[in-house]
Amino acid sequence: MLTLLASRGGAQSAAATRATNAATSAAISAADLRTRLYLIADDSMRGRLAGSASDTLVTAYIASELARAGLAPAGEDGGWFQIVHFRDRGGREPVIPSRNVIGVLRGSDPALRNEYVVLSAHNDHVGVARRAVDHDSLRVANFAAAMRKRGSSGAAAQAWATHTLDSLRALRPPRRDSIFNGADDDGSGTVALLAIAEALAASPDRPKRSILFISHTAEEEGLLGSEWFTDHPTVPRDSLVAELDMDMIGRGSAADVVNGGPAYLELVGTRRLSTELGDVAERVDAKEPVPFEFNYAFDAPGDREQYYCRADHYSYARYGIPSINFSRGDHPDYHEVTDEPQYIDYDALARVATYVRDLAVTLANLDHRVLIDKPKQQNPHAGCVQ
Ligand SMILES: [Zn+2]
Repeated sequence: MLTLLASRGGAQSAAATRATNAATSAAISAADLRTRLYLIADDSMRGRLAGSASDTLVTAYIASELARAGLAPAGEDGGWFQIVHFRDRGGREPVIPSRNVIGVLRGSDPALRNEYVVLSAHNDHVGVARRAVDHDSLRVANFAAAMRKRGSSGAAAQAWATHTLDSLRALRPPRRDSIFNGADDDGSGTVALLAIAEALAASPDRPKRSILFISHTAEEEGLLGSEWFTDHPTVPRDSLVAELDMDMIGRGSAADVVNGGPAYLELVGTRRLSTELGDVAERVDAKEPVPFEFNYAFDAPGDREQYYCRADHYSYARYGIPSINFSRGDHPDYHEVTDEPQYIDYDALARVATYVRDLAVTLANLDHRVLIDKPKQQNPHAGCVQ
């Protein structure tokens, strides 16, 4: 753990720790994911709070990248955006409109192209902290707390923290930090969404059904962007055959999560409406060069963490649309100013993006709509039950 943490900050080449001017390519690659994530999670993006100027900036970037990839706009009034109306904690609508970005890759089959497989991630995060803190001190303290939670003694965690912070101090001075960069949450899902759009648009064989790419806003305010879209869909709601949501897919190492590693992937919602969706998800995974091992623990009814109710896939599930939330898991940088792009595992992120792309294509090419064999929630507005 010590060498891992120290080397992440210190020993990486300069190229790996800042954005490059490199053009991105059609293939899903770790390099492209890194290039885009260093833009989206840059301090200049000011934490991407929904209803702030930085949310406008990042959604403009996402729309321009979807356009550049060759998608068609599928938002309101023929454009890329859908304004999401909500009130902040003071009861006011944000002064700057908060917006979903929606693009479509048209399917190749004349009969099936009016059905959609939805891919999503969220573009917002939680903004800027009131008070700056020292980045390395905070990070080391949070990792030490995680060690104690996993059963290390207080003395062992303290010794590790002291030694690690000393090593980091030898590499670099303290750095005051107040920006919630949200590199993993959900910069990781956002750059995966863009990479998948670019890869599919460049491919000569189009899936039969259309793929709808949605970058939701205001997830952090309570799934408000996805709630708004599913309440006011820009295509008929019953044409949405399945939804795959990527949120926090950039971490997942053994240092980050219990049993973490290259094969770690959490799935939530998978078989709650459709047994077939779960079966297809596993079948596609088994054919990947390095298959993931799915962790379904957080999908358990009544699970304390409530993940089923805490990601945008739920907004779809409540309308009876089979959906899955994919994540590489929680970690000590979650909702901290330390969720920065230098701590992302870009190779694993590329494999998740590739897998979700393959799953979306498989669902879009099925000769039938993925079968719904479980009852849906009676009232979509009744509230979520884990
Ligand atoms: Zn979050």
